[in-house]
Amino acid sequence: MRHSDSHATRIGALGELVTGEVIEAGAPGYDAARRPALARFGHIRPRAVVRCASVDDVARTLDFAHATGLHVVPRGGGHCFAGRSSTDGIVLDLTPLRSIAVSPDGVATIGAGATLAEVYGALHEHGLTLPAGCGPTVGIAGLTLGGGLGILGRKYGLTCDRLRAAQVALADGRILDCDEHRDADLFWALRGAGGGQFGVVTSLVFDAVPAPDATRFELVWSLDAAAAVVAAWQDWAPDAPDEMSANLRLVAAGTDGPVEVIMFGAMLGTEAETAELLGELVGLVGRPPGSESRARLPYHDLKGSLAVLGSADAAEPEPPGLVSSRSEFFRRSLPADAITRLLEGFVRDRTAGQRRELAFTPMGGAYNRVPVDATAFVHRAERFLLEHVTVSSGGASTGSDLVPRWVQRSWAGLHPWGSGRVYPNFPDPELTDWTEAYHGSNYARLARVKRTYDPERLLHFPQSV
Ligand SMILES: Cc1cc2nc3c(=O)[nH]c(=O)nc-3n(C[C@H](O)[C@H](O)[C@H](O)COP(=O)(O)OP(=O)(O)OC[C@H]3O[C@@H](n4cnc5c(N)ncnc54)[C@H](O)[C@@H]3O)c2cc1C
Repeated sequence: MRHSDSHATRIGALGELVTGEVIEAGAPGYDAARRPALARFGHIRPRAVVRCASVDDVARTLDFAHATGLHVVPRGGGHCFAGRSSTDGIVLDLTPLRSIAVSPDGVATIGAGATLAEVYGALHEHGLTLPAGCGPTVGIAGLTLGGGLGILGRKYGLTCDRLRAAQVALADGRILDCDEHRDADLFWALRGAGGGQFGVVTSLVFDAVPAPDATRFELVWSLDAAAAVVAAWQDWAPDAPDEMSANLRLVAAGTDGPVEVIMFGAMLGTEAETAELLGELVGLVGRPPGSESRARLPYHDLKGSLAVLGSADAAEPEPPGLVSSRSEFFRRSLPADAITRLLEGFVRDRTAGQRRELAFTPMGGAYNRVPVDATAFVHRAERFLLEHVTVSSGGASTGSDLVPRWVQRSWAGLHPWGSGRVYPNFPDPELTDWTEAYHGSNYARLARVKRTYDPERLLHFPQSV
């Protein structure tokens, strides 16, 4: 039975249960330990941050939360757009569990606290990698549990499509290993429905893929070509060969900074093959870019170089300031008048100290060759993802920040053409129909999994299953 009397909620008792550090409010290092990666949630003050030194620490902290009624949330990289890895209860910091082992047959066993940079670095030593995002400090667990988009995704699918097994600490303190044969329903739910709701994953086992040499490219146009580039990109990028991953990003800084239209990404092929394919897109645009660069690079260097560019696949380092965004998937191309209105809104009434971005990510390819019910990730028929983003400079969040008007207007203006589906790793607290948006036809099975593995809903947040 849960109770929350002052004795039971004494966090000091937790310090005696776990071997890892328990950092309470007021203790040295508390502010650094409690802050997630996103400044937007920097104001939230947990009762304690538990730095889990072992899988048993995770299970014991879950038991303690159950017994005391304190809210508990797992945290890896701390990049959740909706602040779900922050709480006024207990933050279960998994970052000490970051070991990475690679077997000779290319199976990687990765501690749930590892970051993408650590994963790429360790796999690189073996000539291997994973299809995953570019943000170096994003957590492998958070990314995988919600899907995982990246430049190898059109070739190899989502990060979660490469997951072979996982170790999980359940809400009742049990620790189990799940895969296609053992607790298969739980394993299914962990692949794409989003983190923090079925159990706390302590390690992940992946089938890695060979790290290829690839050609990195970047083409930049000015604002007057934007409508033609968006129109051409949306018809071309989602249907390009799987080897081609071309993101499109429009950036407008401040009230009167120049607007840049940047298509960037990577092609698993030679420079000549890349130039030929990009030539198709430039032909569709009907205007050559103002600048164009290409470079053939080992995959590890290529990932590193994309990490500084930005977007869903490459939005690192996290720019200083407050990031707000809304996003949606699209199954069909936008008509010309919708593109015109999108771009008019993008440049109108710009705000000082704020950067606006429209970030288009191509889907299709291997992402869409997995049946919708094979994993919990239901979004297997989408052509592209569009994020409407603002980055406001300076200042910490007070917790009362509203989503900027431009983000709301821009998102709402395109919503009639969207599929109504939203990437679970880009959670959006504003959504009303979130079960359909994140989970579509997979929601009913997810609800059954939740009832089986966390019937008392110890792990919860707004919009959790
Ligand atoms: C700068 C930046 C770049 C990004 N780039 C990409 C990209 O290229 N591709 C892409 O697909 N996405 C990208 N994302 C989105 C990213 O996938 C999600 O924000 C993801 O949830 C982050 O995971 P995390 O561990 O860093 O965050 P956290 O906030 O720690 O965790 C995210 C969620 O997962 C839960 N969780 C964390 N660890 C565990 C665990 N071990 N067990 C159970 N639940 C857990 C948390 O409670 C929370 O609900 C990016 C986000 C940012 C901010």
